[in-house]
Amino acid sequence: MSPLLLRGARLPDEGVRDVLVSTDSGLVARVAPPGLLPSGPDELDLTGYLLLPAPAEPHAHLDKALTWDLAGALPGDLLSAVTAWRAYAARVTEEDVFQRARRAVDELSANGVTAVRTHVDLLRDDGGYGGDPLRGLRALLRLRRQLRGRVRLQIAVLHVDAPDELLHEALDLGADLLGDCPHLSADPAASVERTLRIASEHQVGVDLHADESLDPGAGDLRLLTRAVLERGFVSGVTASHCVSLGVVEPAEVARTAKEVAAAGIGVVTLPLTNLYLQGRDRPSSTPRGLTALRALLDAGVTVAAGGDNIRDPFNPVGRADPLETASLLVTAGHLTPDEALRAVTGGARAVLGLPAAGPYEGAVADLLAVRAQTVSEVLGASCPERLVFAGGRLVSRTSVVREIF
Ligand SMILES: [Zn+2]
Repeated sequence: MSPLLLRGARLPDEGVRDVLVSTDSGLVARVAPPGLLPSGPDELDLTGYLLLPAPAEPHAHLDKALTWDLAGALPGDLLSAVTAWRAYAARVTEEDVFQRARRAVDELSANGVTAVRTHVDLLRDDGGYGGDPLRGLRALLRLRRQLRGRVRLQIAVLHVDAPDELLHEALDLGADLLGDCPHLSADPAASVERTLRIASEHQVGVDLHADESLDPGAGDLRLLTRAVLERGFVSGVTASHCVSLGVVEPAEVARTAKEVAAAGIGVVTLPLTNLYLQGRDRPSSTPRGLTALRALLDAGVTVAAGGDNIRDPFNPVGRADPLETASLLVTAGHLTPDEALRAVTGGARAVLGLPAAGPYEGAVADLLAVRAQTVSEVLGASCPERLVFAGGRLVSRTSVVREIF
């Protein structure tokens, strides 16, 4: 395939540039001032667009997506959402998961996402892991194959106290990582140890739902950090949520953040879901459900942000749009627009273990062009007019007709 020349795009901090991408290598070949690169048969005029690294979604639940109305869920906290989901999940089919997950990925993709890490439940039928607990995983494995070249899908197996044999079976089937939810486990410390042990046996990464509560005494992140440091665990380790770290004393936050950095653990914050689920028992001065973002960044921790739930019992809203997530990091998390954008682009790709992408020579040509001039406009206006490139190939274009009379 011939290279593609993206003409006249504005790059953050660099002004207007022409960008040559190679669809063969999937990389950005050249970046130059306008008019210096030779024209070719394949060109796109991006005048009026800001060209950015494509976002990655580091934490989704595609098996749960788009079930808020189907499940008849009611607003509530985490445990009420878990209860509503489990009641629906008991009758969910492989085809149902596949169709909803595909619709959700299409929304993410059109908004700019070229890589997704999704968790998938080992589905419970009757309060336990009887029946066919792997049907959700099979649906997402099928989707992963179908998405090749457009969206890179990583699948983490999420479970609470599932038997070892079932976890081995899920990883043998092709899951990419092992998840866990220690705060819902009967023995959180044992659960973390077991998850690391089994992941290590399969040489896969780990992504925990850690400390999804406002209890300052919650200890999943500390358990995980110590276990990783003691074991010298080398595969990618991610701690998602880490809400309670946002409500502990600053000195303890700094200490924990330093240990997390030393352990090489990436932290994923999930503002939409945690602002929705947490703090419902505290109607006055309701705490925000975000982790200690500033302290983690100051300590050098890789920080990413994700959307988590898309219109399911854990969150009835959510636009499958990383720019919405980044906007919340500015308003609710007090990051700068540049820091917030980094959390859904470079930070998210780093957590997923992917090489850097963006309009820079030698980087992966996963790109998002948004009709806007500046990063703050991109986040603030959540501009819908976008073009999305994966490996240098145009995979999505959204155009808008607006009439004002
Ligand atoms: Zn989650």
